[in-house]
Amino acid sequence: MRVAPAYRFVALTDVGRQRANNEDAVLVDPDHGLAVLADGMGGYNAGEVASALAVDLIAAGMVRWLDQAEGGGARDVRRAMEICVDDANQAIFEAAHANAAYLGMGTTLVMAVVRGDGAVIGHVGDSRAYRWRAGQLVQLTRDHSLLQEQIDIGLITPAEAAASGNRNLVTRALGVEDTVLLELREVSLAPGDVLLLCSDGLNDMVTDGDIAAVLAVPAPLHAKAQRLLDEANARGGRDNVSVVLIGMPDLSEITH
Ligand code: CA
Repeated sequence: MRVAPAYRFVALTDVGRQRANNEDAVLVDPDHGLAVLADGMGGYNAGEVASALAVDLIAAGMVRWLDQAEGGGARDVRRAMEICVDDANQAIFEAAHANAAYLGMGTTLVMAVVRGDGAVIGHVGDSRAYRWRAGQLVQLTRDHSLLQEQIDIGLITPAEAAASGNRNLVTRALGVEDTVLLELREVSLAPGDVLLLCSDGLNDMVTDGDIAAVLAVPAPLHAKAQRLLDEANARGGRDNVSVVLIGMPDLSEITH
């Protein structure tokens, strides 16, 4: 019997049905309990450059820190995430200004560090984290987007937002300015829970209810992730779609 639950990690990304390039990037490192997902933007291939830089630099920085700070608490993890994201932001910002083809590139970010029975979640922009627990899907992040700001001040309803054409205007991104504010929160995880990280190519195409239904079907985690991509593509696949699933084994799996 394990003292700590062995989380399972799956990361999948797909170009979708309408785009030529995949500007999303995903990385999971189960040994370090780490997942990073980025959704890039910019002309030519700049979006791909921005999201790849974000994922690679943040993962490398976090792995270095996690290797050195085995016993650090959630507060230390939060601080390490802030530093790594700040460093990546600087690097993308400098790359954008060193090459005319990259000017204006940027990327969203959602990341998680899971340890013990909880996770620290960080995000910038409209890539999201959700927790699925016993059939219920709860959104853990609040989009940094024009649409969310309009909802917050009562200018439009969530239903109107769902039908809006201005879905992709983010108000925060890495690489756009020389500093960026990472939003952080801590969440608990219980046996059987699934943590979902995704790009907007998933939640723009598939409702929260339909995502919850896919996660509720008994199947290996990889099959659930693939099914989420398939659902986004079946509904039109207008954008690149990326999914990270982190599963905490249920009690029967932990004790066997
Ligand atoms: Ca996108």
